[in-house]
Amino acid sequence: MHLRLTEEQKMVQQTIRKFVEKELIPLENDVLKNEREGRPSISNEKLKELQLKAKEAGFWGINTPEEYGGVDLGQMMMAIVFMEISKTFVPFFFGGSADNILYYGNEEQKEKYLIPTINGDKKSCFAMTEPGAGSDTRNIKMTAVKDGNEWVLNGEKTFITGGNEADFVMVIAVTDKDKGPEGVTCFIVDRDMGWESEYIHTMGEWGPASLFFDNVRVPEENILGEVNGGYKLGLEWIGFARWVVGARAVGAAERLLQMAIDYSKERETFGKPIADRQAIQWQIADSAVEIEAAKWLVLNAAYTLDAGEDNRHLASMAKLYGSNMGNNVVDRVLQIHGGMGYTRELPIERWYREARLWRIYDGTDEIQRLIISRNLLKGHVKVGQFI
Ligand SMILES: Cc1cc2nc3c(=O)[nH]c(=O)nc-3n(C[C@H](O)[C@H](O)[C@H](O)COP(=O)(O)OP(=O)(O)OC[C@H]3O[C@@H](n4cnc5c(N)ncnc54)[C@H](O)[C@@H]3O)c2cc1C
Repeated sequence: MHLRLTEEQKMVQQTIRKFVEKELIPLENDVLKNEREGRPSISNEKLKELQLKAKEAGFWGINTPEEYGGVDLGQMMMAIVFMEISKTFVPFFFGGSADNILYYGNEEQKEKYLIPTINGDKKSCFAMTEPGAGSDTRNIKMTAVKDGNEWVLNGEKTFITGGNEADFVMVIAVTDKDKGPEGVTCFIVDRDMGWESEYIHTMGEWGPASLFFDNVRVPEENILGEVNGGYKLGLEWIGFARWVVGARAVGAAERLLQMAIDYSKERETFGKPIADRQAIQWQIADSAVEIEAAKWLVLNAAYTLDAGEDNRHLASMAKLYGSNMGNNVVDRVLQIHGGMGYTRELPIERWYREARLWRIYDGTDEIQRLIISRNLLKGHVKVGQFI
């Protein structure tokens, strides 16, 4: 067991760190200004320009197989990359990627949807959640009824990330209501087949969408995977992202903690820097300990997947602990900055609002606890099994 990054991993970490410092952090003031004046955080042109710069440094399709032009870094590297990239709130993401379940498409679907998504010519979204079915995904009501060689979709999806911008959606609908989770199917549905979207305003700087399907006709060939095989695809889509939320929280929390350390040394009250007060020191210490713990959980979840083992238990732990850690840290950092922390002159309040989402999407805190405890109580995972 070697508990240090390899030379290659360190190199990737340093490269991304430099990219963040040189290309992204200088954009932060503009991002805040844009958002506060109601414009998109960053223009599409700027995002593309940044993605091309990252491509020059070798970061294109970081989780995309080489046969599709990616570099397929593997999960550990991805964890390292996500932790670094999240040290800024500039909403950057690397080009050359597609949702993991699109790879389950047949050759025609890959040609029509996967490749254009990887190339950045098409945008996708994934829709499982409904107004009456969030955590309780088994309660999905959206229907797909076969009519000739088409399926007719009716229902509403909600909270769909990218739902307003997407050219097509991978949507889960009930195809056999007597079979429960074994009776749902994933369909690839182009926007011009007739679904509509509506932006949902949130406390964050971007919002998901509601999607409306009113007799939307979808050809048989647009089924992704198998008929009645949608639930598994849905869980796969969600499962992947889980530990990534923890990784993002680690990156943000490290940056925020550094801000608090710097500020506490400068800010004087009653004739001394606040860094000299135990009340502040303990908040710094607790934050540092929690960040470190979350980091190891994230790395373990990523490592386990790279090793070809089932990492779902660890991914839930990394997601649960990481997102709570992120919320604790941003709250302490805001507190250490006092009134300034509450203002819009600093980005802390922005991070504070964003962090709150981490505890909700990709499975809430309560659902992660349910999964973790169920695994232990049913004996799927033994206490202390992993190391
Ligand atoms: C910004 C944003 C983006 C999102 N993006 C997507 C997306 O792209 N695609 C998609 O399909 N979905 C997406 N979601 C939906 C998200 O996954 C759900 O909001 C989440 O799973 C919770 O579902 P819910 O909101 O219906 O809450 P509910 O399931 O109604 O839960 C309400 C509360 O009850 C708790 N609870 C529920 N069941 C139990 C239980 N058995 N035991 C204990 N407590 C329980 C929950 O933890 C929560 O605190 C997104 C959500 C948001 C806010």
